[in-house]
This record gives sequence, structure tokens and C-alpha cells, in this order.
Amino acid sequence: MSMASIINERNRKSRLKHTIKSLIASTMKVRKNINPYKKVELLAVTPVQRTNQILVRGQARGTAEQRLYELLIMFSGASFSETKDKDHPLKISLGSGAYIYMAKLSGSNTKVQVRCTCKDYYFMWQWWNKQESALFGGKFPTYKRKTDNYPERNPDHVPGVCKHVIGLSEKLAQQGVLTR
Ligand SMILES: [Zn+2]
Repeated sequence: MSMASIINERNRKSRLKHTIKSLIASTMKVRKNINPYKKVELLAVTPVQRTNQILVRGQARGTAEQRLYELLIMFSGASFSETKDKDHPLKISLGSGAYIYMAKLSGSNTKVQVRCTCKDYYFMWQWWNKQESALFGGKFPTYKRKTDNYPERNPDHVPGVCKHVIGLSEKLAQQGVLTR
């Protein structure tokens, strides 16, 4: 790793400030009832060893329109080991029959960036998550308001997550990958 890429890596990490727990707590400031979405599938847990990250991919089937939403949670600051030990109990596939072991991710300490293709994430959260480095992936296209007659969706300008992301994190907790 070159000095420049080490510095870039450090800058990227220090900008991240949200965890799954802090994003859910922020969501609860503006939403009273949050039920983790049940119809969420965990598709892949992919280790990115070079940057000590874990990319989690999931999908959720919408109830009303039966649309399929795609979700991503990037965990930064993961710890990997070639061998299994008490700090690295989880066996993760690298593909082609290769494996690596990793430490459990922490809901209250591991920094995250999230993304979902649902309307709630688009209208309510993506913009404010971007301001707080909690949006995973590129900027969403700008939404042009057709009228100013309706109130702003997120008047408190808080970052947060949709029910699908909460459902996916719940699934990771059930499988022992994420501690609450
Ligand atoms: Zn969503």
C-alpha cells in the first residue's frame, strides 16, 4: 500500500460517524413505531480485505406493489484472520472454495454506510445520510419538486434508515454476524 493510499484510507475512515445503532436511534427521533421488515433476504456477505470492510447485500419484497428493493450495508473497520481464533469466530467465503475468518461486527461500534432502492430511503434519508457520510455508493439523482404545497418529508434533517435496512441488520444479528 502506498503512503497516499494509506492516508486516503485514514481520511475515509475518520469521516465515517454512524453505526447501525446510531442510525436507528436517529430514525426513532422522527418515527414512533419502527418494525424491522420481515421479508428481507440476506444475499451475500462479502469481505473486502484490502480496506477492512464487509459489504452486505440484501433484497426485500414490497408488500403493496411486490417490487423488489435492493439493499446494501457497508461495514468499515472489520477485522480478518487467516485462521480461526476466539476473536475471529466467523467463517466467510472468499469464493472458489477459499475462506477467511472475521470478528463479529458491532451494532454500536462498527461504522456503516447504507443504501436502499425504496421510496422511503430516497425521499426521507439518502440526502441527509450523504451529508453525514452514511450513504453508501454514489449520489442519487436530484428530485425536482413539482409543487411546494406539501410539507418537507424530513423537516428535522436527520439521517436514518428505512425498515428494510433495519430488517437486514436484524437478520445479521440473528445469524450472529452482528452484535446488538
Ligand atoms: Zn428500503
